Amino acid sequence: MTRDIYTRRESEARSYCRSFPTSFVKAQGSILTDDTGREYIDFLAGCSSLNYGHNDPDMKAALIDHLMADGVTHGLDMHTDQKEAFLTAFEEIILRPRNMDHKVMMVGPTGTNAVEAAMKLARKVTGRHNIVAFTNGFHGMTMGALAATGNSGKRGGGGMPLQGVTHLPFEGAFGPDVDTLKQIEFMLDNPSSGLDAPAAFLIEPVQGEGGLNAASADWLRGIAALAKKHGALLILDDIQAGIGRTGTFFSFEEMGIEPDLIPLAKSLSGFGLPFAALLVKPQHDIWKPAEHNGTFRGNTHAFVTARVALEKFWKDSAFQDSLTDKTRTVETGLTSIADMIDGAFLKGRGLMRGVDVGSGDLAGTICAEAFKRGLIIETSGAHDEVVKVLAPLTTTDEQFAAGFEILRDATRAALTDTMKIAAE
Ligand SMILES: *Cc1c(COP(=O)(O)O)cnc(C)c1O
Repeated sequence: MTRDIYTRRESEARSYCRSFPTSFVKAQGSILTDDTGREYIDFLAGCSSLNYGHNDPDMKAALIDHLMADGVTHGLDMHTDQKEAFLTAFEEIILRPRNMDHKVMMVGPTGTNAVEAAMKLARKVTGRHNIVAFTNGFHGMTMGALAATGNSGKRGGGGMPLQGVTHLPFEGAFGPDVDTLKQIEFMLDNPSSGLDAPAAFLIEPVQGEGGLNAASADWLRGIAALAKKHGALLILDDIQAGIGRTGTFFSFEEMGIEPDLIPLAKSLSGFGLPFAALLVKPQHDIWKPAEHNGTFRGNTHAFVTARVALEKFWKDSAFQDSLTDKTRTVETGLTSIADMIDGAFLKGRGLMRGVDVGSGDLAGTICAEAFKRGLIIETSGAHDEVVKVLAPLTTTDEQFAAGFEILRDATRAALTDTMKIAAE
């Protein structure tokens, strides 16, 4: 099959297809199959949209049953049996056991919609416009969320000034010896700092696109305290780090923090279906009916699969317990890569981990060599310098072993390439 149709008709904005130039026809668990029958191990998992792997059989069966019974596909935000079942399961399995009294706001289907709703609501609640976001943060592509995103290439796509956000340094932005919490405190306490009083702090507990910088519990608690002191809301963007990725359902669990607003998306549906929501502390839920509206708020098919995911993976501790071993497996695998490269070191937390190889060129070459050998893996970071593992949380030991074997071969090949180039 020729793939001219993409160059002829698909916008130049296309991206991942450029790194993985083949045509996929099948997906199961942690394996993608292309149109030549070649299998690839998937260490990207739809950028963490497929934490339970591709085509989980129980979610698939429930969705097929729903379709065959003429279950509702689109219901605006009307009451449906599936919406009720999802909300009930989310309350019982996720919110109540964690003592969270948050309400669930249905937003448009992608993560940026949830961030956009959070920014609007924080401004409405506080009557302030400024939102503090952080260096290397990524929050989405619509204008509000883009203003909070650090990446200059993406910001440039906005085509007009991006307003209402001040970027302050994330933990460790100036290295381990500089306490950015102190700097932020100074900015907030000094009435001549030039920082407008913030409506909210918007933070990724682990920066997914910005290089897998993982905030410590101490730093997050410090920001939470500053937010409280200065009358600002705390928004923890758990779109990529949430839903099990760091080893617990939410990435900030066990840190003693109560975020006011929590955008969720990516793996929320469990099945790779578009579905986002914003968790809102009840005292902040001051929207008027339909004030933040949208045609596709709540995806009924995603309600079905998300509920099955909660029942299957989060009702007892077996799945979460299994993540401890897998975290160790990924750490060992990545350490073996880091050992091959001068100065390389590990980044991230839980199953959101990677290795900083020191240059975007090397990281890009490693990923390209990995793809040639049957592994799908991407880079992250301000200079794309981190090789990032976002394997499905259901990846087996054998698949991890095979994936890291490929990654080591790819690293060896990339290092040889780089030395050849240097010698020329
Ligand atoms: C992916 C992502 C978003 C945006 O989600 P989309 O579904 O791509 O709009 C926002 N925040 C974080 C942390 C993300 O990883």
